[in-house]
Formats: sequence, C-alpha cells, structure tokens
Amino acid sequence: MSAARLKKTGRFAVSAAAEIPVNNIESIVRIMQRGTSTAVPIRPQGAATASTDCNRSSAGTTVRMTGLDRIIDIDTYNHTVTAQSGVRLYALAEALAEQGLELIGNHEMTGRTLGGAIAAPCLGPSIGNEAGALASSVVSVKMVTGAGKAMTVGPDSQKFLAAVRASYGMLGVITEATLNVQPQNTFTASHRKLSIDEFCAVSDRISNAPVGFRFALMPYRDRVYLDLRRYAANAGQTYNTPWKIKDWGESTVLPQVCKSLNRLLPIQSVRYRVIDSVTEATQGIVNSRFVRTGNNATMQGRTASSIKKLLYSTWCFPATDFSFVARAYRDFCRETFERTGYRCDVPAIGYRISRDATSVLSPSFDEPMIALQTTATQVAGWEDFVIDLADFAEHWAGVPIFSQTRSLRADYAKQVYGNRLAWFRKLRRQLDPEDRLLTPFMAQYFQ
Ligand SMILES: Cc1cc2nc3c(=O)[nH]c(=O)nc-3n(C[C@H](O)[C@H](O)[C@H](O)COP(=O)(O)OP(=O)(O)OC[C@H]3O[C@@H](n4cnc5c(N)ncnc54)[C@H](O)[C@@H]3O)c2cc1C
Repeated sequence: MSAARLKKTGRFAVSAAAEIPVNNIESIVRIMQRGTSTAVPIRPQGAATASTDCNRSSAGTTVRMTGLDRIIDIDTYNHTVTAQSGVRLYALAEALAEQGLELIGNHEMTGRTLGGAIAAPCLGPSIGNEAGALASSVVSVKMVTGAGKAMTVGPDSQKFLAAVRASYGMLGVITEATLNVQPQNTFTASHRKLSIDEFCAVSDRISNAPVGFRFALMPYRDRVYLDLRRYAANAGQTYNTPWKIKDWGESTVLPQVCKSLNRLLPIQSVRYRVIDSVTEATQGIVNSRFVRTGNNATMQGRTASSIKKLLYSTWCFPATDFSFVARAYRDFCRETFERTGYRCDVPAIGYRISRDATSVLSPSFDEPMIALQTTATQVAGWEDFVIDLADFAEHWAGVPIFSQTRSLRADYAKQVYGNRLAWFRKLRRQLDPEDRLLTPFMAQYFQ
C-alpha cells in the first residue's frame, strides 16, 4: 500500500509506550494527576475490542482498566446496578440474571468492559423504540478528568452526562458507573432466508414496525439471513444453550473455518465457493427452530477472546434509505472484488438501532439507523478495502463511529457530527487543557 493510503487508514507507527494495568481507583488518580511522571498522551483501554486506535497510545501511556472489575451493588428494588468500569458485560449479565434482571438492550460481544461500552457506542438491535446503546441506561458515572480531577456526573447534570456517554475516553477515565436495568423480558425470534432484493422490499416496513431485527448479509451469494425479534407476553420457556451455540457458531467457528479455508484452498474461485457454502450451512443450523425465544441475559454469554482478532469496520446508514444502500452495498462488494481481487469472507452483520439523543455523539442522534458491520479474517488487502468502503459509505450518507469505523476522514466526521462535535471539543479542552488524553489519532477528530 502507498504511504498516502497508509496515512489515510489512520494507523500510526508504534514506538515505545508504557502499558499500566490498574486495579484500584487510587492508582488512576495518581496516573492522571498533573505533574506526575506519567508519559503522555494517556489512553484508557477496556477489553481493546475497538477496531481503531482510539484505545491505545503508541508513544505515551495505555491504562488497562480490566483489573477494576468489582460489581459494587445490585439494587433489586430500584432496578439499578453499580459496578467498576473494568467489569466485563458477561460478568454483569450473569450477576444480574441471578436476581432475575438484565441489561437494557440486545448487546452481543460481551467480552467488552462496562467502561468501554459507555465510552464507545455499544450498540445492538433495538426492539421498537427501545434504546440501542447501552450508555443510554447510565444514570451516573465516577471519573477522573484529563486534568486529574475526580468527579461524579449524575442526573443533576444531564448535559454533561450526555457528553460522557460515547466520549471515547476524551473527557476522562471512567472508574465506576450506575445503570438502570430491567426484569428479564422474553422476546420471540423468527428467521427468514431472503435474496437481497426480497430483503430490500421489506426493510422499510420492518424498520417502522415494533420489532427488532438483525441480519447476516452475503453480497456474493445475494443472500440475507434475517432474525426478527418481538416482545411477547407468553413467549414460553427461554433456554440459554441454543443462544450459546448460535453465538459460538457465528462468532468463533465460522471465522476460524474461513481462516483455515483461506490457507488450505489456493484457488480463489473454489475457496470462496466453499466458504460461502459453509457460511450458508452454518446460518441454517444456528438460526434453527431451537433459537425461538430469548432475552437479553440469554444472549449475553461469555464471548471467546479469539473474536477480538476479526477485522471489522462499522458504518451506520439512515434506516429510511437502507433498501437502496443494501443493493448498492452488494454492487460495491462485487465490483471491488472484480477490480482488486479482495472480498470479505465472513458475512456483514446489520441491525436497526432506534433514534437516541441521550448522548451528544450518538450515531443515531437524529433518526433510526441501520448499523452495518463489514467483517473479514483476511489481512492482505483489508486496508485498501476499508478505504474504498469509506468512499462508498460517504456517498450514502453513512455515519461513522470513532471506535469502529476504519479509514475515517476527519473532514467527513466533522461534517456529519457538525455542531455536536464542535461543542464536545470545547468541553474536552476545558476538562483537559494540556491535551494529556489526546493522541495523534484522536487529535484528527477531537482537537
Ligand atoms: C467481533 C466483534 C464484534 C463486535 N460487535 C459489536 C456490536 O455488535 N455492537 C457494537 O456496538 N460494538 C461491537 N464491537 C465493537 C466493540 O466491542 C465496542 O466498541 C466496545 O464498546 C468497546 O469496549 P472495550 O471494553 O473493548 O473498549 P476499548 O476498545 O478498549 O475502548 C474503546 C474506547 O473506549 C475508551 N475507554 C475504554 N474504557 C474506558 C474507561 N474506563 N474510561 C474512559 N474511556 C474508556 C477507550 O479509550 C476507547 O476510546 C465488536 C467488536 C468485535 C471485535
């Protein structure tokens, strides 16, 4: 890849950097205090599942938060949970399930930390108008600012709280949070196998219906596996095992098989025919009649650590236009494959997120969106592919996510987030006047 294109991907050269694991709040306060010997810039890191350099500092200090993993209180009367920010979502979901409670929202990839899920959008399919982002259920947070000041941001400072949600560690390090939770609520799931045109014919209707949906899109097979979810009063018994098998099949087995087939089958046409057939068979098995009912707790089992190694880039598109975008995405993928020889071996995953103005940098601040996560296991060719994908997404009014969108142009991000980003940057400068949390990667968007 040329130097200019390498620069455009947003990856910066790695030099010596410090990594500090923390397991108590006093160490964070010490690290963050001005005048200490902590090398700057400083970046808080949760489970490191973001796909951009938002969670590491290649020259300063990366503060690893996973040791701060205590669940402090589950209030079964007021339906809230208070936990330290390094707690993994699956640990939180398991502790809540013991009390008959669950996190609000259908969140997968549960290896991420609570702090990472608040500071970077943690999105899942919304059922009806239910919030798609975990951060919207946050009631209060404790944090240490870039200037080393410990503070609590709660319901009496809603505007500030809206900035802390999806703040990408730019306002400070979150040490603890209290969230609203809910009693376990069963939904039914039904599955359809459609062509992309058939999916486009129904996507507007289901986007406006009180249902949730998630889909696996295979552009080279012209296939969509659609999973429709709705709350039901009498949905019957919910079992964990089928969801665990589904998650294991989709997020662990399939990527591993694709990786192996890429190595074993040198002839491209044969390789991709086999990969697509295995993918279709897997989708058919994991979305079987056994996965008919679920709740947020059953979906939030432990995530295999190997899935961190998947390559992905997420763009959100207005739900109202998605029937056009899905067709254009199929054509883009096919044309790019013909031109460059690169294609994604794993299906793209999409889901609808409802409008959410509870966070200043919410990707669905103005309207419901479809989040489309393009995923692959093959490294060679990926960086060029995500640059082309970014051009495609800009053309279709895509909204980027700073932690999940690769090859994002700073000018485009500023155009999309407009006044909200300008206001956020002003607040950032007040809380971190010496730019101690600002790496070169983050400075592109937040300086
Ligand atoms: C295979 C795969 C599937 C995924 N699927 C989804 C999906 O369906 N939906 C979705 O929304 N995301 C998905 N993601 C993306 C990712 O899981 C989220 O962005 C997640 O919220 C990041 O959490 P983390 O703990 O890994 O944070 P990190 O990646 O470590 O950090 C993310 C950002 O949060 C900041 N941060 C972390 N901890 C703190 C803290 N304590 N205080 C302040 N700032 C902090 C970091 O500085 C960084 O800017 C997926 C990722 C992978 C690898």
